[in-house]
Amino acid sequence: MAANPAGPVIAARGLLPDEMSRIMIADAVESAPKEACGLVLYDQAGRPTRIYRTNNIHPDESRFEVDPVQHFRIINEADLAGQRIGALYHSHPHGPPRPSPIDLAIDWDPEWVHYLIGRTLTGKWAIRAYSIRDGRATCLDRGRRRGSAPMTRLSVDNRPR
Ligand SMILES: [Zn+2]
Repeated sequence: MAANPAGPVIAARGLLPDEMSRIMIADAVESAPKEACGLVLYDQAGRPTRIYRTNNIHPDESRFEVDPVQHFRIINEADLAGQRIGALYHSHPHGPPRPSPIDLAIDWDPEWVHYLIGRTLTGKWAIRAYSIRDGRATCLDRGRRRGSAPMTRLSVDNRPR
């Protein structure tokens, strides 16, 4: 993969394979000024296994909505593989990598990890991981340097979504 034109990447290290982080950043760079979005499959042990870049069908440049046809196909592929969608990512091309008030107002699956790709104060792309429940976001990668446990382990269920 070519060097990231936006400079060094600050990634949610340890939560995601580096290759998936690179794909998220590439999607954010290539989709700008629109927001990028995609989904990540997890296996039964809570490990991320596959990333899907999806089309953002929202007409507003600063919003996103995963293409429902792609979403449905990914759910079917996950079911066939005995896996589940465990994370959603999207980008803030001009904003910080944290959930916006609009992001917090959506009634997400509480088990999902949300990867936010946005800009640091110096303009570099960064990825942060959050849990969003009841309109509140909890950062999952804060303090990892102090040796906290990985936060991407997810419970598995087979409810249709
Ligand atoms: Zn957002």
